[in-house]
Amino acid sequence: MTISIEIFEFHQDNFGFLLHDNKTGATAAIDAGHEDKTREILKKHGWKLSHILITHHDWDHTDAILPLKNEFNAKVFGPKQQSNKIKGLDELLSGGDVVNVGNIKLQVIETSGHTKGHISYSDQKNHNLFCGDALFSLGCGRMRESNAKTMWEGLERLRQLPDQTQVYCGHEYSADNARFALSIDPDNLALQKRAEEIKTLRAANRPTIPFNLGHDKQANPFLRADNKRLAAKLGADADDSAEVFAAIRKAKDRF
Ligand code: FE
Repeated sequence: MTISIEIFEFHQDNFGFLLHDNKTGATAAIDAGHEDKTREILKKHGWKLSHILITHHDWDHTDAILPLKNEFNAKVFGPKQQSNKIKGLDELLSGGDVVNVGNIKLQVIETSGHTKGHISYSDQKNHNLFCGDALFSLGCGRMRESNAKTMWEGLERLRQLPDQTQVYCGHEYSADNARFALSIDPDNLALQKRAEEIKTLRAANRPTIPFNLGHDKQANPFLRADNKRLAAKLGADADDSAEVFAAIRKAKDRF
């Protein structure tokens, strides 16, 4: 293995990630939500933090930027859009940019919606995606700062990534997402299968991530807003995927 990924849990349902290039020693924190937990994992492995990659401005993804940056002299990358809302950024990123963490190449994908400047990081060689609060297993982030068209376009960009992509998202919301998804798409076999898997993992107190993007394309209603059956179920215009997406998002918010 040329790379290592460490997942840690903090607060009520947050995930943090450390991405390490075994060859060069470069180590990136994907978002910086918890200072002590990050330090603990670094210490356990003898890694030194060299990069901090921010997906969006929410406090539970940015709280630890300044202390970690000061302690490790790490370089901080984050979205150009709304960069004024994030303290400590050194490099500003937009869709299409590339960040190198040692030999690991991360492509920046614009995934606005949850927040306006939200970005995701895709390691296409190793098939890993770090998507903050844009996409969850069987769900997506709350649409707080953009319209349905923009958010759907971001999810479509993620959907274009290869099926074998492993997705690392910002929260453990899978069980709730499964309940909602089954309520609007009860006959979907891929969804039923994933819901069972989530039930088993949660019963064993295990995280449901990373999850497989190919399976999620089949099971997650928010990645299937161009599906005619779902559109009909929600009474939305099947020719307007953004409208279907908005209807699914609204139904989930009320669920
Ligand atoms: Fe958030």
